[in-house]
Amino acid sequence: MSDAVLPAVSAAILPGATLGVMGGGQLGRMFVHAAQTMGYGTVVLDPDDSSPAGLVSHGHLQTAYLDEAGLAELARRCDAITTEFENVPAPALRTLALQRPVAPAADAVAICQDRAAEKAQFVRCGVPCAPHALIESAAQLAGVSATLLPGILKTARLGYDGKGQRRVADAAALAAAWHELGQVPCLLEQMLPLALELSVIVARNAQGETVTLPVQQNLHRDGILAVTQVPAPDVPAPLQQQAIAAACRVAEAMAYVGVLCVEFFVLADGSLVANEMAPRPHNSGHYSIDACDVCQFQLQVRTLTGLPLQTPRLHSPTVMLNLLGDLWFRDGDAAREPAWGQLLALPGMHLHLYGKTSARRGRKMGHLTITAADAAQARAAALQAAALLGIAAH
Ligand code: ATP
Ligand code: MG
Repeated sequence: MSDAVLPAVSAAILPGATLGVMGGGQLGRMFVHAAQTMGYGTVVLDPDDSSPAGLVSHGHLQTAYLDEAGLAELARRCDAITTEFENVPAPALRTLALQRPVAPAADAVAICQDRAAEKAQFVRCGVPCAPHALIESAAQLAGVSATLLPGILKTARLGYDGKGQRRVADAAALAAAWHELGQVPCLLEQMLPLALELSVIVARNAQGETVTLPVQQNLHRDGILAVTQVPAPDVPAPLQQQAIAAACRVAEAMAYVGVLCVEFFVLADGSLVANEMAPRPHNSGHYSIDACDVCQFQLQVRTLTGLPLQTPRLHSPTVMLNLLGDLWFRDGDAAREPAWGQLLALPGMHLHLYGKTSARRGRKMGHLTITAADAAQARAAALQAAALLGIAAH
């Protein structure tokens, strides 16, 4: 190959440099692992003294997200900075961006933090989303169209894993739910007839190069992701292409730099509707660590540092099972470690535990990626693993 066809990497931040991450949760931990493998130093900023990412990072600044001294120190020690959770205050990212490259940018993160802004962004990009109404006042509550009921009331900000949501059947239930949620700004969404759920993970760098992960088919239980399957068994190829194109349009429109996940519903009539997006790697993309040649966290490193991107190739059909804290309480109130030894004796098991110090019901403690030579074998092994752990695989 002659030099002329090699991508320009002169401006890239190369291995040996130090990368910072706002937030110390499991996504930060997996980012840190990927960055360290590639030869970068890492610094995590998180107030918790035993955060999953803080425990494995070269450096850990234990300060609040808006602490001026903490942010100044992070900028001083790092060559570029990313975020691992959606609710990192946008002003903190703006402060950091005055001194260092920050990806994703505060403006994009701010859109994803607000369900109303997020929906407006989908609409601007010509991507259909659920009929909805903003409820910020008693007058708006009273004026809600009956066509939106039954619906789901969601807080406009700070919701995750189904928290801050209430299913409401009628106007009385809606009013009660809004009061229960503290009368904070909320979005009422029409309850849609879901056939299935999928997500698309896009990585885009500052040069405008874009790559996507293979489409994930997702199953949620109680508002929390439970199972991801790739290749998506029930999504026809044209629909996958449509979802990929929509996700890329959304990233492009925000001039997004980083990893972005867009969640979609497929409705009973086969149509595609965007649900929400996350300005970071996503739980549904964890399978890529073990089942793809390039994972979503490597892409986060590449987008942050300005390295050329590579289209991830799925080398093994896969099923991912989330491991919630509930697994620790199968025998009652005393927490007991699940049977890891028996689990790891099964073929194709890749166990990821996030190093969280205590298990709680509904808390994401880890995930299990199952890989196999074909989808049927992956599915069969996932069923065995799920039975052993005492969780439903569908
Ligand atoms: P996340 O952990 O993905 O951030 P979240 O708390 O932001 O979750 P949503 O993604 O808005 O929650 O909703 C959680 C789940 O609830 C969805 O994956 C879907 O199963 C269901 N759901 C949400 N909105 C609707 C809707 N309008 N119609 C039908 N089901 C819905
Ligand atoms: Mg969601």
